[in-house]
Amino acid sequence: MTSERETRPFETEVSQLLRLMIHSMYSNKEVFLRELISNASDAIDKLRFEALSNADLYAGDSELKIRLSVDPEARTLTISDNGVGMSRDEVALNIGTIARSGTREFVSHLTGDQKKDAQLIGQFGVGFYSAFIVADRVVLTTRRAGHDEAVRWESAGEGEYTIEAAQKEGRGTEIVLYLREEDAEFLDDYRLEEVIRKYSDHIPFPIVLSAPNGEENTVNQASALWLRSKSEISEEEYAEFYKHVGHDFEAPLAHLHAQVEGRLSYTLLLYLPARRPFDLASGFEGKSHGVKLYVRRVFITDDAELFMPRYLRFIRGVVDSDDLPLNVSRELLQDNRVVTSMRQTAVKRVLTMLEDLSADADKYASFWTAFGSILKEGIVEEPERKDDIARLLRFASTHNDSDVENVTLADYVARLKEGQDKIYYITADSYTAAKNSPHLEVFRKRGVEVLLLSDRVDDWVVNHVEQFADKPLQSIASGALDLGILEDEGDKEKLDEIAAEYAPVVARFKEVLGDRVKDVRITHRLTSSPVCLVTEEGDMSSHMRRVLRAAGQDFGAGQPILELNPEQPIIARIKDELDHERFEDWAHVLFDQARLSEGAQLDDPAGYVKRLNDLMLSLLR
Ligand code: ADP
Ligand code: MG
Repeated sequence: MTSERETRPFETEVSQLLRLMIHSMYSNKEVFLRELISNASDAIDKLRFEALSNADLYAGDSELKIRLSVDPEARTLTISDNGVGMSRDEVALNIGTIARSGTREFVSHLTGDQKKDAQLIGQFGVGFYSAFIVADRVVLTTRRAGHDEAVRWESAGEGEYTIEAAQKEGRGTEIVLYLREEDAEFLDDYRLEEVIRKYSDHIPFPIVLSAPNGEENTVNQASALWLRSKSEISEEEYAEFYKHVGHDFEAPLAHLHAQVEGRLSYTLLLYLPARRPFDLASGFEGKSHGVKLYVRRVFITDDAELFMPRYLRFIRGVVDSDDLPLNVSRELLQDNRVVTSMRQTAVKRVLTMLEDLSADADKYASFWTAFGSILKEGIVEEPERKDDIARLLRFASTHNDSDVENVTLADYVARLKEGQDKIYYITADSYTAAKNSPHLEVFRKRGVEVLLLSDRVDDWVVNHVEQFADKPLQSIASGALDLGILEDEGDKEKLDEIAAEYAPVVARFKEVLGDRVKDVRITHRLTSSPVCLVTEEGDMSSHMRRVLRAAGQDFGAGQPILELNPEQPIIARIKDELDHERFEDWAHVLFDQARLSEGAQLDDPAGYVKRLNDLMLSLLR
């Protein structure tokens, strides 16, 4: 370990963030205190956890608290805790680099437009760096529990910081804020008390203001919020606690608070965030702020996967158990009977919370936009809860012809036409591609509703839903069109007749297209398009193939079935094309068009263009 003083530049993103924050948070400056107290509380939680297996870490100081003191002359506000502290490496990693996986992602969203970016930072939150909202110089001295030497970190928030070895009495972290002149209000005890009560009342450790004469005055309730009775907790208190556990700047969309007693006793306080955090992208990787496990008020772990399955990885909050031993190891937790039982209840309650939320269309819509595509994964991940999750799904549909996903499977079933026994859907790469798919033509003509699916995972999801209210889900681009309600009296007979008439041209198509197709046949599916492609029942859909190819798994283009619309003039006339070479051009061009209208890329675009040009030229003659 080096002990000399080092000056290091902030990562570019950190500098950018600092500048933005200082300029955009002026209307809400006081939040810096919430962030610093929240960090202090986390540090005390960590110390308590580490001390479970090594009580020496307390080193005679087991009165855990967060202390605030001011020096009006020096214009400083000092926030200190006797939590776990940081080593030199931890300081360098956590404060100065982008420790939070979401930060880089966040910075990439910045537009340069002051107003928009200010809004963005309001949603994102900035944690430790918020100190610079009110301070033009910050000195942090910290000593890791169990270490002798301390570290001093200092910065004026302008591109660089220094780090050096230091001395500190006792473990923990002390942050001295050199307040800007205009922020001297935070030297005032009353003002500090007000801010602490507003944002940090729920912090389960005492937050004390220490007077110059050494007197200490505890400002907050200092009891675990989740153990208080529901009737005593206001919405604001729930929201502030969420911001602390969820590391979020915005209030949650919903919460559930359950104090379970019986064979097992535990408390759940779980929250649904209002917005998708920047670091939720693909899973639990990175720094997770999921559901935290406490045992009798002692923080044990925030191993997110313990209480929430992947498809609910956006849920935040606390589970506090009375039954687990305090010294439980992570390995032991993995398939612990108590944990499993709490997890099952937690998941069930969360799904009920979502169901309840759906009574409020606006709130549910914002939930669905933020997390719908993650929730869907549950259909596959937890088949035993498939029915509960299926009720929570929302789709775009031909019923309201809008890309807003607000149609439930139950809505669809309630609108079934007489004689209709299937739930029809189509998958495509975008809402527009789905909406304009030729496959929809006959459904539109007959007024039969079709769900329009365009999410990457949709194919996979509907395949696993299989059925809802005893009605199977059926892709309209797969399998033979089971006419059923789409059929008029006499249609079947007419189709047979037409099929006979077109048998020779169907055979010619087959011969020309060879193994590009599995089959060619006459269809009733279309009204205005000449052709479309259908996958055989049970084959992988072409949308799925494209999704998998984008993910690096190439299953080839597959062998679709080409369907011809006998009522379309091109098909009607092509039947009589005698020039074989020209017929070949027609067949390939029509096939490629069908591929294009599915949103697929052609294997040989230049060949397509050449054939099309030849055909155009022949018309100009
Ligand atoms: P977050 O709290 O969301 O992780 P912050 O920017 O608030 O992000 O803090 C960054 C990291 O710095 C924390 O995760 C923690 O590791 C460390 N840290 C901040 N304050 C303290 C403190 N008082 N004691 C120990 N570690 C701290
Ligand atoms: Mg923080």
